[in-house]
Amino acid sequence: MITTRFAPSPTGRLHVGNIRTALHNWMLARKGGAGEKGRFLLRIDDTDAERSREEYVDAIRADLAWLGLEPDGEERQSARLAKYEAAFEALRAAGRVYPAYETAQELDLKRKIQLGRGLPPIYDRAALALSDAERAAKEAEGIAPHWRFRLDHDEPIAWDDGVRGTQKFAPAQLSDPVIRRADGSWLYMLPSAVDDIDMGVTHVLRGEDHVSNTAVQIQMFAALYVAGFVAAKSAAKSHPDFAHEALLVGREGKLSKRLGSLGCDAFRERGIEPEAVIALLARLGTSQPVEPIADRAALIESFDLSTFGRAPAKFDDAELERINTAIVHQLDFAHVADRLPEGMDEAGWRAIRPNLTTVAEAGEWWRLVTGPIDSCEFSEEDRAYLTEAAATLTWGDDPWRALTTALKDKTGRKGKALFLPLRQALTGMDHGPDMAELLPLIGEDETRARLRHAAG
Ligand code: GLU
Repeated sequence: MITTRFAPSPTGRLHVGNIRTALHNWMLARKGGAGEKGRFLLRIDDTDAERSREEYVDAIRADLAWLGLEPDGEERQSARLAKYEAAFEALRAAGRVYPAYETAQELDLKRKIQLGRGLPPIYDRAALALSDAERAAKEAEGIAPHWRFRLDHDEPIAWDDGVRGTQKFAPAQLSDPVIRRADGSWLYMLPSAVDDIDMGVTHVLRGEDHVSNTAVQIQMFAALYVAGFVAAKSAAKSHPDFAHEALLVGREGKLSKRLGSLGCDAFRERGIEPEAVIALLARLGTSQPVEPIADRAALIESFDLSTFGRAPAKFDDAELERINTAIVHQLDFAHVADRLPEGMDEAGWRAIRPNLTTVAEAGEWWRLVTGPIDSCEFSEEDRAYLTEAAATLTWGDDPWRALTTALKDKTGRKGKALFLPLRQALTGMDHGPDMAELLPLIGEDETRARLRHAAG
């Protein structure tokens, strides 16, 4: 069974880039494999107690609910610290973690020197070379160590990435990552690997900014297995499948600040439907066409990692708005009923829907039915025409057709001269919903009253 996870850190609101990652993990799970639907987990990465906030956890849940990306389970890293401790101890006993004592300034200086010499800024493992006596001396000075994971330089790293194809890393080209701070708190790397094992995550799908983390984590998975931390049953495969998607950029091709703050609240305020966000993000950056598909099952069915490109995916607001308009035109009455103006029924929704770019605009259009409408100026001739119209009006199955057919015969008017004064008299506007659908909503008495009023 496929298990995916979306693992946001609750240090801010979800932005369009995170939303896309969540969506793709949800789709991967919903598509499932071998006739079986998968699981989509929400994992709150809240080991950073200082920056994590409960209000963001709530907001993440609310945003996923608004998008309709309901997780099948939720986990929190802050509730799992004992697990990380156990993994840490297992790795430590196996000689795969070591204490380091450099200050941030010392490390920074080392990097500057390396860069100055044209060398890559890789940690030099000075702490690994310390003798017991040297370590004891540091601790006697009161310096608490932070902890690094020791990469195995003899074990080349390779994986078959679901988006990027074969990926290879030489471990000696990577720094041994710091996994734990001097105050005992955890950095991202180890808890994430422990959780992916423990929660049976089969597919890790995330942004390409995590590619080098994956290289490290692949060795971590193997080390946890060797150190006996991983139960044999979950070690059928030494690590999950990995796929890294290209990042999302603004239309101008750069990572924009604006995208970093664009999220569900902004979408909602602009009248963007979750279905539109989903239709766009599902396929943006893939070789499949972005289309206003409101049917999630269809999007899930066509979801295919092998169609994901390696070039940055370009997010364009205008495209989102186009998709949204097309989606709004497909929405069923039941889907929007609780957001429609009082009294607007299914027939009203159907009449007005084609004119909308957002559902919220329904209120303005509904005013054409309930009134009051704006009054228009008419020529003498048109006023006579409207008087004739009021007298001609009959009420049957299709009053608009009956009225215009009769008026055409009586007056010889056609085209714009026939229709526009009627539309203006009945709605106060030059354009708008189909009059044939509108008239039954306005009703016979009100229709006649508006024609008479306009006729003066
Ligand atoms: N909390 C990490 C992040 O938001 C999760 C990365 C991952 O998916 O492993 O970047």
